[in-house]
Amino acid sequence: MKFTDFNLKDTIQAAITEAGFTEPSPVQKDAIPLVLEGHDIIAQAQTGTGKTAAFGLPIMSMMKADGSVEGLVIVPTRELAMQVSDELFRFGKLSGLKTATVYGGTPYGKQIDRIKQASIVVATPGRLQDLLKSGKIKINPKFVVLDEADEMLDMGFLDEIKNIFTFLPKERQTLMFSATMPKSIRKLAEQILKSPKTISITKAESTNSNITQFYYVVQERERDDALVRLIDYKNPTKCIIFCRMKKEVDRLVAHMTAQGFKVSGLHGDMEQKQREVTIRAFKQGGIDIFIATDVAARGLDVNDVTHVFNYHIPFDSESYVHRIGRTGRAGKTGEAITLVSPNELRTIKRIEKDVGAKLVTQVIPTRMEVQNTKSDELISKIAQTQVTEQAINLVKTLQHDLDIVTIAHLLASMIQSENSIKGKDKIGLTLEEIETAIQRAKQGGNSGGGRNRSRGGYRGNNRRDSGRNSRNGRNGRSSRNGGNNS
Ligand code: ADP
Ligand code: MG
Repeated sequence: MKFTDFNLKDTIQAAITEAGFTEPSPVQKDAIPLVLEGHDIIAQAQTGTGKTAAFGLPIMSMMKADGSVEGLVIVPTRELAMQVSDELFRFGKLSGLKTATVYGGTPYGKQIDRIKQASIVVATPGRLQDLLKSGKIKINPKFVVLDEADEMLDMGFLDEIKNIFTFLPKERQTLMFSATMPKSIRKLAEQILKSPKTISITKAESTNSNITQFYYVVQERERDDALVRLIDYKNPTKCIIFCRMKKEVDRLVAHMTAQGFKVSGLHGDMEQKQREVTIRAFKQGGIDIFIATDVAARGLDVNDVTHVFNYHIPFDSESYVHRIGRTGRAGKTGEAITLVSPNELRTIKRIEKDVGAKLVTQVIPTRMEVQNTKSDELISKIAQTQVTEQAINLVKTLQHDLDIVTIAHLLASMIQSENSIKGKDKIGLTLEEIETAIQRAKQGGNSGGGRNRSRGGYRGNNRRDSGRNSRNGRNGRSSRNGGNNS
C-alpha cells in the first residue's frame, strides 16, 4: 500500500512526498480511509507508530483553508503540542494551512492572535479550557482530535476535557488516540464519540531465540557514523539495513558506497528484473550489504544473513519481528542491531515488552576498540596464510636495501592502512547516560540523555513534567517564538 492509494489532496500528497514517506504505517493504513469517510474513530496505538500523520493527513486533506479554525488537536503536554504542531505544519504548508500552538506558561496575547490566523490549533487541555471559558477565543472546529488520551487522563485532565467539549460544535468528527484502553477511556469515548470505528494495532509474535538483539543509543546526527562503526566492528558476512524511507535508502547507499562497502539498495519501485538481479548478487556474495525499506524486503528469502540493522526503529513490534527474522534462519545464529535516539527509548522498551525478548543495550565501540579487534583478526589471518614463491622473491629484493624487521613493519602498515577505522572516536551514549535516559523515559520525562536533544526525530517525551508545568503556569521559557508555525 502506498500513500497515493488514499487519494489525498494534491498539496497534501506533495508534502508527504517531500517528507520522504513512502509506506504508510499500520495505524495510518487503518485510520486514513476511515477518517476520509467521515467516521469518528477510537484507535489504540502506541508511541512512535505515526499517529500524527494518521489523523493529520486526512483531516488536512478535507480542510478548506478558509481562514477559520477547522481542526483542534488536544495533547497532554507542551512538548507534544510543539512536536505535533511541527509535524502538522510540515504536511499543511503547501495547502496554506497554518498551525497555532497553545499551552500554558506563556502570555495569552500572542497565542490568541495566532489562533485567529490558524486552520489548526494544537493545544494542551489547561490553557485551551482557560481560553474557551473566558471567551477569549471562539472556535468551531469540524475536526477534533484527542491525542494520547490515556496520558491526559493519567495527568488528571478529565474535567478539563469534558468542559472543553461543551464549547465545541455538536456537528464534528472526533478522533481519539490512546496507547491503552482502560475503562475510563472507554467511558470518555462513549461521551464524545458518535458510533466510532475501532482501530487496534496488534502485538507481534515473539522472536526467534537464535537471534541476539542489541540496541545502541545515539543522537539523530550520529546515525550514519554509528552504522559505519558497527559494521566495521561486527564485520558481517551479509547484512540487511532497514530504513523507514526510500529517501534514506538512497542516501545511505551513496554514503556506504563512499565508505568502501559493497552495498545495494532495494526499493519498492525497482523493476522486478533489476530486483532479481540485485537479490541474486546478494545471495552469491557480490553484495554484502542490502539497504532496504520494509516493503522492498518483503518476501526476500536469503538464508545466511548474519546481521540485521535497524537504522531507524520500525513503527510496530510486528515489523520489528519481521525485519529481524531475516537473520537467524535455518538454525543459524544471527544478530539484530537497532539504533535509537534518546527520544525513542520508550518505543524500544515497548517493543521489547511486546516481543518478550531481552534487548541488550551496548555502547558503540571506539575507534581503538575496533582497531584492536581488527588487529586480532589480522593476526590470525596472517598466521593462516600460505607463503608463496612471489612473496619470497619480493622479500629477497626488499632485503637488498632494508633489514627484515623494517620490511615487516612496512608490510604490516600497508595492510593496516587499508582497514583503518574512520570517524570520530566516541559515538553515541555511554551506559550511564543510557541508564539515566531510560529512567527519565520511564518517568515520562525528557530523555535527552545528557547531551543536546535533537529537534529532528521523534520528540514524544517530557510529558508529565511539562504537563504539570503548563498546568500551574510555571514553565514560561520558550525556545520557540511563541508557538506559531506560520
Ligand atoms: P506517535 O505520535 O505515534 O508517537 P509520530 O506521529 O510522532 O508517532 O511519528 C513518529 C516518527 O515517525 C516521526 O518522526 C514521523 O515523522 C515519522 N513517520 C510517521 N509516519 C511515517 C511514515 N509513513 N514513513 C516514515 N516516517 C514516518
Ligand atoms: Mg504522537
